[in-house]
Amino acid sequence: MSLRPLSLALLLLAPALLRAADPTLHEALVAVRADKAGDPAVARVLQGLASAHGTPLYVYDQAHIRGQVASLKAAFAPRFPKLRVLYALKANTNPSIIGLLKGEGLGAEVVSLGEIEWALRTGYKGSEIMFTSSSKNPAELRRAIALGAVLNVDSLDELGQVRDEARRQKKQARISFRVNPGVDPHTIHQINTGITESKFGLHLQDGIALRAYEQAKAMPEIRIEGLHCHIGSQITETEGYTLTAKKMLAFVKELKDKLGLRLAFVDLGGGLGIPYKDGQAVMSPEDLARALEPIWKEGVAAAGYEPTLWLEPGRFFVGGSGFVLVRVNTVKQTPVKTFVNVDAGFNTLMRPILYQAYHRVRVLGKSADPVTVDIAGDVCETGDILAEARTLPRAAAGDLLAILDAGAYGFSMASEYNSRPMPAELLVDGNRVRVIRRRGGFGDIFRNTGK
Ligand SMILES: *Cc1c(COP(=O)(O)O)cnc(C)c1O
Repeated sequence: MSLRPLSLALLLLAPALLRAADPTLHEALVAVRADKAGDPAVARVLQGLASAHGTPLYVYDQAHIRGQVASLKAAFAPRFPKLRVLYALKANTNPSIIGLLKGEGLGAEVVSLGEIEWALRTGYKGSEIMFTSSSKNPAELRRAIALGAVLNVDSLDELGQVRDEARRQKKQARISFRVNPGVDPHTIHQINTGITESKFGLHLQDGIALRAYEQAKAMPEIRIEGLHCHIGSQITETEGYTLTAKKMLAFVKELKDKLGLRLAFVDLGGGLGIPYKDGQAVMSPEDLARALEPIWKEGVAAAGYEPTLWLEPGRFFVGGSGFVLVRVNTVKQTPVKTFVNVDAGFNTLMRPILYQAYHRVRVLGKSADPVTVDIAGDVCETGDILAEARTLPRAAAGDLLAILDAGAYGFSMASEYNSRPMPAELLVDGNRVRVIRRRGGFGDIFRNTGK
């Protein structure tokens, strides 16, 4: 481990900051989510964190993560007795977060050699790792095969490379194929992005995936274990999953009937969405499990055997747990807008500029005098707006804001662009807080340059 003990030190809030009736840190975070950030006691508690650790600051609520895992298990375990849940590490790659999810019994779904190394460092065995990527390099193939991870193969070209490397290592490579089911998870409401055109997976269409299994079956260096798909991210309705599950299970039957193959697992991917707006209704795990149950039962009855159902969410577990605390530098009125300029930008949280994503923003300790503002980042780019046209209590220089739902694809996408060091990350457990990544410094920015 490259992390030194200091970064894992248990840190109690200075008692002088707290009053007897103050909420715990966890309660303060829950209150911020519930739009009660104006409460002076809530603000006081989070001001304490920001003063002690600086801003911008990532704060994760452990109870939220555990609650998400529990709700997924409660929905799926009773309906799918053969179930395995993995955590997609790329959503949040902090080792303490990975460790927390490992502790909940989840496997590791990784997309790179770096994520393989994180999984190993947090105690995963190679055999517990599923490696998905549409473009794996030779070093990644070598390491994954040596470790006995499941390689989720994305092309016939890759299959040949896996066979050759397994032969060199005198090992059998464990594989599944990622298939492209040709389903748009957003068919109902959103712009059709045409997943059939996506770069991922072998198409079920035209028998392409079937021929891949046929070829793999003839290779002694290959052990076929499963079938995989992942149709997208931030999916808020069940339809995409149910359409996909039908196609996948029909293919399971086809593999058995035509090739005599029995799979150990069928992985329906991740992608479970979370609400990013107040009052937004999204599919719950219960909704999804209930919708999938009859399709699964019918599909396995038709196939004549039951593979293990694998799921591999990322965002669903960690997204809502994360907050970015940012400080207001200045407020500026232009002829057309009011900008609240904060000390974080798309270097800290990329989702708004990358996906036009909406993140709720709360002004801590203020509830009066609503104004419509843009929350502007400190990166020198016009597009660096973290939140647009929000009506919020009037904020002033020095105020603290909380940006919500930043636990997934937040820090893991952050950068040092504009030569700003990486923020710190904290993990809140009740009223205790652990530094799970120290704030970066200029030494980090200058590293490896010889300067
Ligand atoms: C990113 C990814 C996931 C997780 O996606 P979420 O939307 O965070 O649940 C799962 N599987 C694969 C293959 C991925 O690339």
